[in-house]
Amino acid sequence: MLRPGCGIVHRLAMRSWATAPALPNSLHRATPSLSKLTHTIRAFSSSDEPFSLFTPSEEHANLRSMVREFVKTEVEPQALEYNRAEKFNYDLFKRLGSELGLLGPMIDTDYGGAGFDPVAACIIHEELSYSDPAFCLSYLAHSMLFCHNLFHNGNDAQKNKFLPKALSGEWIGGMCMSEPGAGTDVLGLRTKAVRKEGGGYLLSGQKMWITNGCKTNDELGDVYLVYANTATIDGAETGNAAKDRQKVSLFLVEKSYPGFSLGQKIKDKCGMRASNTAELVFENCEVPEENLVGDLHGGLIPMMRNLEIERIVLAAMSVGIARRAVDAMRRYAAEREAFGKPIHSFGQMQRHIAESYADYMASRSYLYSIARSCNVDQAGQRIDSDAIKLVATKMATTVCDRAIQVLGGYGYCGEYVVERLWRDAKLLEIGGGTLEAHHKNITNDLHRTVGSDDMPH
Ligand SMILES: Cc1cc2nc3c(=O)[nH]c(=O)nc-3n(C[C@H](O)[C@H](O)[C@H](O)COP(=O)(O)OP(=O)(O)OC[C@H]3O[C@@H](n4cnc5c(N)ncnc54)[C@H](O)[C@@H]3O)c2cc1C
Repeated sequence: MLRPGCGIVHRLAMRSWATAPALPNSLHRATPSLSKLTHTIRAFSSSDEPFSLFTPSEEHANLRSMVREFVKTEVEPQALEYNRAEKFNYDLFKRLGSELGLLGPMIDTDYGGAGFDPVAACIIHEELSYSDPAFCLSYLAHSMLFCHNLFHNGNDAQKNKFLPKALSGEWIGGMCMSEPGAGTDVLGLRTKAVRKEGGGYLLSGQKMWITNGCKTNDELGDVYLVYANTATIDGAETGNAAKDRQKVSLFLVEKSYPGFSLGQKIKDKCGMRASNTAELVFENCEVPEENLVGDLHGGLIPMMRNLEIERIVLAAMSVGIARRAVDAMRRYAAEREAFGKPIHSFGQMQRHIAESYADYMASRSYLYSIARSCNVDQAGQRIDSDAIKLVATKMATTVCDRAIQVLGGYGYCGEYVVERLWRDAKLLEIGGGTLEAHHKNITNDLHRTVGSDDMPH
């Protein structure tokens, strides 16, 4: 039996890290004697309290088993069918809100969210992606890119108006940053907002690759957070292109607003086929004054802050995909025989399986360690959010590739899951920042620390 969301939600929010052994205070003090250090370090490492990095408290364990059960009974049976039909399972998505209360994992309970920590958000994304990464991608775009972003950057009136419908699943939302001509170079966006006579704003431009951009082939999703350049408003333009491109603002746009339309549903994607992706068009789209989120020209900070948590949960999706691929390999290699032996007795198969398990566990450990220390209330965690996404997404495609190899011809077919996982995993090397963008960001962030005594950590 599935447990309704609310009970677990409140307990997890309240206890948070209560069960994790605390670092002794003396470890934070300056240079205590060596014998005292030895004593406290021994006491810390021999603590009787069991501790799991991946599922650190009883509440996290309850959450993991609740989502795992939902995945087994509800998500897994539909994954292949919706992938083949290139359809998003909207009814199942709504149940994540109405039955499990998981559509706002890190949103305060006062606003109807679950009040969880980032570790819990990773658990949900990992578990959903074990079965259906495309379904999880749509969940991520709604819960993290729309709801979480609005919760952190919107005012009370905006949260009270939009969050109840979004958290129940009545409305589906997304976030519009990328454009046909601007992805990695996000500040090259051309969507513009100008003031409308009589109040409010007019938005013009196109957004590309928007997850949840449509519900069906020809129907828009319900509500979006849209980034637009506002340099021409209130004489803010300086004439300096580098400065003017930073004058970005964030707006809430509902599907009913005049001038807003669905350009096209993007079909025939390599993977993530059960997640809707769309091009959206804004032609003098009328946006009311009260839908400006945060300060005018102040959209850059929300954008960067949201990218950090997005990258962490995208990495969690990669970990879930890899767990499934390792699972598929270990089962298949034990059953399949060649030359009179199970194929797991061959050294080359052992290398695929063993390296995959080791790579998966290394990424999983880095992920949960980052999630544990992540402070979602502030920006500044870019180096690790980029680094975990860089390593985990590459790991997932490599592990899925090995899984296809281990399963041979069967691995190349839909019914055996791993080819779908490979196709879905590939997107994670592109969306939310390409591998190359992470290379650039990490190197820049490390470069900034040159001259100080220590590397990060
Ligand atoms: C299925 C799907 C869902 C998506 N969902 C969303 C969404 O919900 N919202 C949203 O806003 N966006 C979304 N995106 C867009 C995604 O974030 C972008 O595709 C991604 O940021 C890359 O941008 P691009 O496709 O324009 O590629 P480009 O930026 O044009 O990059 C092309 C290549 O050039 C490389 N490159 C670019 N600049 C540099 C550089 N300085 N140094 C080295 N190499 C460089 C890139 O790494 C890449 O390999 C989605 C994309 C897909 C495919």
